[in-house]
Amino acid sequence: MTAQDASAAIRRRGLMLVLSSPSGAGKSTIARNLLEEKELGLALSVSVTTRARRPSEIDGIHYHFVSTKEFERLRDTDALLEWAEVHGNLYATPREPVEKAMAEGRDMLFDIDWQGALQLKEKMRADIVSIFILPPSMKELKARLKRRAEDQEAVIATRLNNARVEIEHWRDYDFIIVNDDLDRAYSEVRAMVTAERLRRDRRPGLFDFVSGLLDEKVV
Ligand code: 5GP
Repeated sequence: MTAQDASAAIRRRGLMLVLSSPSGAGKSTIARNLLEEKELGLALSVSVTTRARRPSEIDGIHYHFVSTKEFERLRDTDALLEWAEVHGNLYATPREPVEKAMAEGRDMLFDIDWQGALQLKEKMRADIVSIFILPPSMKELKARLKRRAEDQEAVIATRLNNARVEIEHWRDYDFIIVNDDLDRAYSEVRAMVTAERLRRDRRPGLFDFVSGLLDEKVV
């Protein structure tokens, strides 16, 4: 093994932070807060979708909006790490940015559904920490979807029905947060990021530090 290989081997791999929840449970706000804390250094995995762009969304920032034909081309050329149909549209995680970030030791955030979370877990088990965010009640979830009002009535009804299916998968996640208070929910997510980054197996650089500590002559 060359010195370069050795240093690559002990380089920390990135952490994949997967956030899922039914629409309206607060996942997007929590994800946005995480990304806005620049010193956290989290990058968002920008998904590909066939869903129509909402007025507030920017192509390439919130999603890569593509046609069904283009989606199928990406899927068939193995350019997608996972994909799923959600609320009648297709969504997927592009492979290349994730593999690059992991190899460079950068941490990434994934705002994906339970189907995507399961597929990523199967492929990248050791790199994943998954968090599921629950609403305090179905009534509150409906109220939040209505307040958001970017979607049509029929879309809200579909999302409420799908929320039950999504919630049934809560056991597939490592951490569960009930979002009855956004500030508290956010600080819980933050605490998990800190804790996961302190795991021994994510800190290969500590080897030299500890060797140095043991070599230090103090008596
Ligand atoms: P929305 O249309 O509200 O942006 O997202 C709908 C659902 O699709 C959300 O639960 C979101 O997490 C999920 N989603 C977004 N991107 C992906 C993706 O790349 N893969 C999977 N499996 N789900 C995604």
